[in-house]
Amino acid sequence: MATEIKAVQTLNADELELQKFGDLAHKWWDKNSEFKPLHAINPLRLNWIDGLIGLKGKRVLDVGCGGGILSESMYFKGAEVVGIDLGEKALNVAKLHQLESGAKVDYQYIAVEELATQQSASFDVVTCMEMLEHVPDPAAIITACARLVKPGGSVFFSTINRNPKAYLFAVLGAEYVLNLLPKGTHDYAKFIKPSELASWARIANLDIHSMRGMSYNPITQHYSLGDDVAVNYMIHTTLPL
Ligand code: SAH
Repeated sequence: MATEIKAVQTLNADELELQKFGDLAHKWWDKNSEFKPLHAINPLRLNWIDGLIGLKGKRVLDVGCGGGILSESMYFKGAEVVGIDLGEKALNVAKLHQLESGAKVDYQYIAVEELATQQSASFDVVTCMEMLEHVPDPAAIITACARLVKPGGSVFFSTINRNPKAYLFAVLGAEYVLNLLPKGTHDYAKFIKPSELASWARIANLDIHSMRGMSYNPITQHYSLGDDVAVNYMIHTTLPL
């Protein structure tokens, strides 16, 4: 098993990144912990996705699901959800949490590239949120997500833009000034410009529909959805029929 995990991780995962999330995993559902920002943005992204495609009755794959914040909320909107991650601790937390919440998400430890070889074109919706900036080869993850969605289905990504404002807000502000996130959570060099994400999506045969920014107001301490994609943003793509 250990060698198998190693092989997967050598493929397209950064062991240090997985460890970072693993070390904090026990706090995943603590809304005042390092995961506070994920809890804060969750209603925004959930309602955006639900408003666009209607989650009820949909078969959804949540890639890099972590402790299951988005996965569970999509389940409670009526979707049938599979959550995958390569962080074992996070997955264990996700599985434990649903005993408490009553969610029934199917959590699996598997690389998205591997699942794509087993279950191509079998999901109505694929979500891959706040994960691309933590992997060695984000384009390969996008390609695998595109293979997993049914023709006509939707794939959603979210990540962090790469420019001075993103550096200021997502690294300096969040990690050093406001202490929203532990220092070292984000590596600026791995941030992704919307143009890069869009071109990888097009290479994967995905059509780009819309993009929304999620901005943090340090005064009100609230996130809001808008047109400003300078820092955190999400993108909606579909696989043509
Ligand atoms: N998508 C969740 C969690 C984001 S945190 C949310 O937005 O709420 C980033 C997650 O990506 C962590 O759970 C981490 O374990 C996972 N991750 C990092 N590299 C990965 C990879 N190569 N494959 C799958 N999951 C990965």
